[in-house]
Amino acid sequence: MEKVYVFKVALKYRKGLWRRIEIKGNQTLADFDHIIRIAFNHDTWDHLSEFFIGQWSRGGFGEIDPDGGGSGAEMRIEQLGLSEGDKLGYVYDFGDQIQQIITLEKMVEPEEGAEYPRVISQNKPRYRYCERCKREGKKTIATWICIECSEEEGREVLLCEDCLEKEHEDHYADEILY
Ligand SMILES: [Zn+2]
Ligand SMILES: [Zn+2]
Repeated sequence: MEKVYVFKVALKYRKGLWRRIEIKGNQTLADFDHIIRIAFNHDTWDHLSEFFIGQWSRGGFGEIDPDGGGSGAEMRIEQLGLSEGDKLGYVYDFGDQIQQIITLEKMVEPEEGAEYPRVISQNKPRYRYCERCKREGKKTIATWICIECSEEEGREVLLCEDCLEKEHEDHYADEILY
C-alpha cells in the first residue's frame, strides 16, 4: 500500500509561517518543490531549489529547476529513507537562499479520491492592514509591501492590492505571506 507522507514545512527564519503538506511516497521531489513554491509564494518560473539533509553547503539531493527538471527532480519521496521525526532542509533561490525546515510528522494511508500533494493545514495568519485604507477609516488586509517606499521611509509600507495599484504603480513591491 502506497504511503502518504505528512510533512510540516516552515520558514527557517520565520518559524511561525508553516504549511502542513501531504505527499505520496511515489511522488517526486519536483512535485514536492512545486507545491512548496505555491504554498510559500515562491516563483514557479524562476530560481533553482534543492532539498538536502544536514547542511546545504555539503550538497543535497540535486537541484530542481522551476519547470520541474534538474538533477534532483526525479527522486521519489520514498527513496529518501526517512522515518517519522526526520528533518530535511529546503533552499529556494541559491542567490537569496530562502531556507525552510521540513519535518516528517507521520505516515498515513492515502485518502480515497484525494489529490496529492496537497496542503492540509497552515499557521493561523496574523493579518496586517493597509495603511492607506486605514487613513480612510477602512480595515483592509495588506497583501503587499512596497519595498521602495519602505526603504525610503525606513518603515514597512503595507498596502492592499487596490492601493498598491493606485499609488505605487511603478514601485517594486513584494507579496506578503501569511
Ligand atoms: Zn488599501
Ligand atoms: Zn511605494
